[in-house]
Amino acid sequence: MSTPGTERIVVVGYGPAAHRLVERLGRHGHRGEVTVLGDEPAGAYSRPLLTSVLDGTLTPGALALPAPPEGTHLRLGVTATAVDRHRRLVRGSDGRAYPYDRLVLATGAAPLVPDLPWARGADGRLTPGVRTLRTLAHCADLGSGDPVAVVGGGPLAVEAALALRRRGRDVTLVHRGRYPLDRHLDARAGESLSARLRALDVALCTGRTAEARTGGKLRLDDGRWVAAGEVLLCTGVAPRTALARAAGLAVRTGVVVDDKLRTADPRVHALGDCAEPPGGTGPHFGHTAAWEQAEALAGLLAGGRDRYTAAGPVVRLKAPEMDLVWLGAPDGAEETVVFADAARRRYARLWLRDGRVRGAVLLGLGRAIAAVVRLYRRGEPVPADRLALLLGSPVEYAGERRPADAVVCHCAHVTGADLAAAWRAGARTVAGLAAATRATTGCGGCVGEVRGWCAAYARGTEAR
Ligand SMILES: Cc1cc2nc3c(=O)[nH]c(=O)nc-3n(C[C@H](O)[C@H](O)[C@H](O)COP(=O)(O)OP(=O)(O)OC[C@H]3O[C@@H](n4cnc5c(N)ncnc54)[C@H](O)[C@@H]3O)c2cc1C
Repeated sequence: MSTPGTERIVVVGYGPAAHRLVERLGRHGHRGEVTVLGDEPAGAYSRPLLTSVLDGTLTPGALALPAPPEGTHLRLGVTATAVDRHRRLVRGSDGRAYPYDRLVLATGAAPLVPDLPWARGADGRLTPGVRTLRTLAHCADLGSGDPVAVVGGGPLAVEAALALRRRGRDVTLVHRGRYPLDRHLDARAGESLSARLRALDVALCTGRTAEARTGGKLRLDDGRWVAAGEVLLCTGVAPRTALARAAGLAVRTGVVVDDKLRTADPRVHALGDCAEPPGGTGPHFGHTAAWEQAEALAGLLAGGRDRYTAAGPVVRLKAPEMDLVWLGAPDGAEETVVFADAARRRYARLWLRDGRVRGAVLLGLGRAIAAVVRLYRRGEPVPADRLALLLGSPVEYAGERRPADAVVCHCAHVTGADLAAAWRAGARTVAGLAAATRATTGCGGCVGEVRGWCAAYARGTEAR
């Protein structure tokens, strides 16, 4: 009988959640054998940075996450095809059986393709010119430069539309809601966002669905035709649960787990986009949740008593043209602060309770973002001068210097002090700071801020 901390672990899937888990296991003192089966041909990479490959800013190789700890058995290009819970082994597409003491499902999510007759052929495959965006393979072969219609209205649709526009493509965003991001933003923020997108030459067709596609055009339900040599479907994701379901594990939207990320079988865990933790809100999609779950599970598998508790969501649009963040939820708010500057397409709404941030939307107010996110994460009271906070006046960062303990990269929990240490150790570029600290390698939302710190160190306006 194996003891905690020395058990044989098999991980299925090698996305950001699995990568983080494997990296943290050793740090938490796990000494057992770790085997990872990943069906993609390459090692783990930062999926959120795919839009930087789409716009040509980064090469696919630049997204690679660091190699796993020495001794990890990595089986790339191998799909786990079945789990035999009775015999405690996983069957791989390479014909091998992988025995485990603990199994971790980290199978992630796959794009959801809506039931649109023009999107899939009789064989069930996407029709030529129609694609989704989830993997590096999806970014390859971007097409001829034809006009592209992005279908969807969530963060991925908006980021992809802007990335393709930066790449020089003619882009139309087709969304059935009243405005892009209508599930996250109030109507005034939506108006400002729409105005910004139009100013960036992204054509918007909102309140519309695409009914047919022919001759490189999409026909909308109001009879209009939209140029669509290529169509990118950004219409949501669904957890990959087939393996768990076939193994007899409980599945709702995702694989059902408790706060120890355990399925009903105590030897089988799930984390990341495929898992559905307690709380009744479905899977906690996103890179940050995946990392938090990996941290908790690594502690547990190493023999600790960790639990996963979800932090409030903070979502930042990864588009250099647009500072847009939304976080938390308005529930239970006692005070609302609204700032609207329609001419400059700036907008903010804060929901406060007990003088603390419960939820917020910030658009075009880049200097306020770090301060508001920090106050929210820490549950600290907002300053009496709310407007100064929103305008990024030096409420947070008195003078030129920012507090060293300010978290810059929330994915990797990198503070200003960590960046300063890396600078002192010789990292002089954003890439160098990223390699030394992992800042920017998660959702990528802090790239601009790390660039700012880097420039400030070079100027000597930040303490090194
Ligand atoms: C373009 C883009 C931008 C994004 N931006 C953000 C962002 O800004 N912020 C944010 O929080 N999140 C963002 N996300 C979402 C984020 O990438 C995911 O939440 C994160 O990747 C989840 O990690 P995961 O490891 O759980 O799943 P995944 O990343 O989906 O990885 C799962 C892996 O398991 C493999 N797999 C599945 N089944 C098997 C099997 N049977 N055998 C072997 N391997 C298998 C899959 O092929 C995949 O490689 C973005 C996603 C995309 C596509």
